[in-house]
Amino acid sequence: MSEMIDAVLAGADPATLAATPLPATTRAVVVRRDETSMFDGMASRDKDPRRSIHLAEVSLPEIAPDEVVLVVMASSINFNTVWTSIFEPLPTFGFLDRLGRESSWGARHALDVHVMGSDAAGVVVRAGSAVRNWRVGDAVTVHCNYVDDQDPSGHDDSMLAANQRIWGFETNYGGLADLTIVKANQLMPKPAHLTWEEAAVNALCNSTSYRMLVSRNGAPVTPGDKVLIWGASGGIGSFAVQHTLNAGGVPIAVVSSESKAATLRELGVEHVINRAERDYRFWKDPTTQDESEWRRLGRDIRELVGEDPDIVFEHPGRSTMGASVFVTKRGGTIVTCAATSGYMIEYDNRHLWMRLKSIKGSHFANYREAWAANQALVDGRIVPPLSAVFPLERAGEATYEMHHNRHEGKVGILCAAPREGLGITDPELRARVGERRLTIFRRHDQED
Ligand code: NAP
Repeated sequence: MSEMIDAVLAGADPATLAATPLPATTRAVVVRRDETSMFDGMASRDKDPRRSIHLAEVSLPEIAPDEVVLVVMASSINFNTVWTSIFEPLPTFGFLDRLGRESSWGARHALDVHVMGSDAAGVVVRAGSAVRNWRVGDAVTVHCNYVDDQDPSGHDDSMLAANQRIWGFETNYGGLADLTIVKANQLMPKPAHLTWEEAAVNALCNSTSYRMLVSRNGAPVTPGDKVLIWGASGGIGSFAVQHTLNAGGVPIAVVSSESKAATLRELGVEHVINRAERDYRFWKDPTTQDESEWRRLGRDIRELVGEDPDIVFEHPGRSTMGASVFVTKRGGTIVTCAATSGYMIEYDNRHLWMRLKSIKGSHFANYREAWAANQALVDGRIVPPLSAVFPLERAGEATYEMHHNRHEGKVGILCAAPREGLGITDPELRARVGERRLTIFRRHDQED
């Protein structure tokens, strides 16, 4: 452990932290450029993140004026950790090289190792000379929208910026490390009633679901809307369910097991479809879909809520998109941010145009949206779906679990925090939100 991490763990004041030397290197979870072809010719499911993910000691570069250094107390596994670790759809080193060509500060990112991770909760220990709103000692969480404020294309909605990037996926120095470097405009206040590991698992997925279902940039839920949510107990799904309930909508949650259904019921969801039990076969074979199976899903939804969904929250992609377009209500919206099962999508366009439906693409969130999503956590209106916690050394195993859909909600990673349960500074708010509610996913995971 470095002197700096010891100082943060001891709760040192800002002046002491500022006077404590920064270590020259950090422990970090990486993939390596010289291993990007290690899985060539293998099927996706056989590519094992435990082989490609390494714990390494990585040098920390000088920070730019608009950046801060954080001691990362905890981070999380996201699906982009899976993509990075199996080098799909592309090795991420191409992203790093492109950033490297942009500027001398960008050049710091073009390394032969990629420090992964797009979530973090921690403490600011250095702030660049242009940082105004944050100080050494601040407890923060980090959102992953990495934007260049000198680019005019990003000044309406920063997600539209020509060179918008996802930190820790399309940049280096991600959150799966003891220390990380982020731009000051990625920082948000850490929810004071949460532990470090609870605080670290939200920003990426919560902000994504907020943009999709709350922001005017997505398909905002209005009271009474019926919302079909695929993967409703997964990372983005578990936030989608909560945002839908908070907006007065009615989630129809799709999951693949009874234990996931039980988790969602405790979260307040009335209507759950177990897709494994219903055994939908949307595809007869790899190239042909079965409309009668789309109809069967549609009937199941009508049986539960009496009508077709106003909004479908899509991300499985190829497996489900045909069904999603079919079951959406006349005039309704399919909002999509991903294609886990395949991005070459097929649907029957007659059902889209004749019934005046729309497909809305969405990607992460701008700073305003990420901040609003974080505020809902800060206020206790959204709870973190933390189900399991791994130490940094076992990030490969945690990523393997996610790759094989063996997790619920979010998987947290302890970085500099030596154990779980640290970081709560507002126990009164924690008591008001309720220990049981804050630990729904964790308790269900431990019972399974
Ligand atoms: P996750 O925690 O693995 O949850 C996804 C859930 O989707 C799974 O738990 C599974 O739930 C369900 N699912 C998977 N394959 C399916 C299929 N073929 N048919 C039906 N349901 C299926 O992952 P996540 O963090 O929620 O991310 C989901 C996707 O969104 C990933 O592809 C990720 O890369 C993407 N994403 C995109 C953004 C963005 O900004 N564009 C942000 C976050 C995530 P059940 O087995 O219980 O049904």
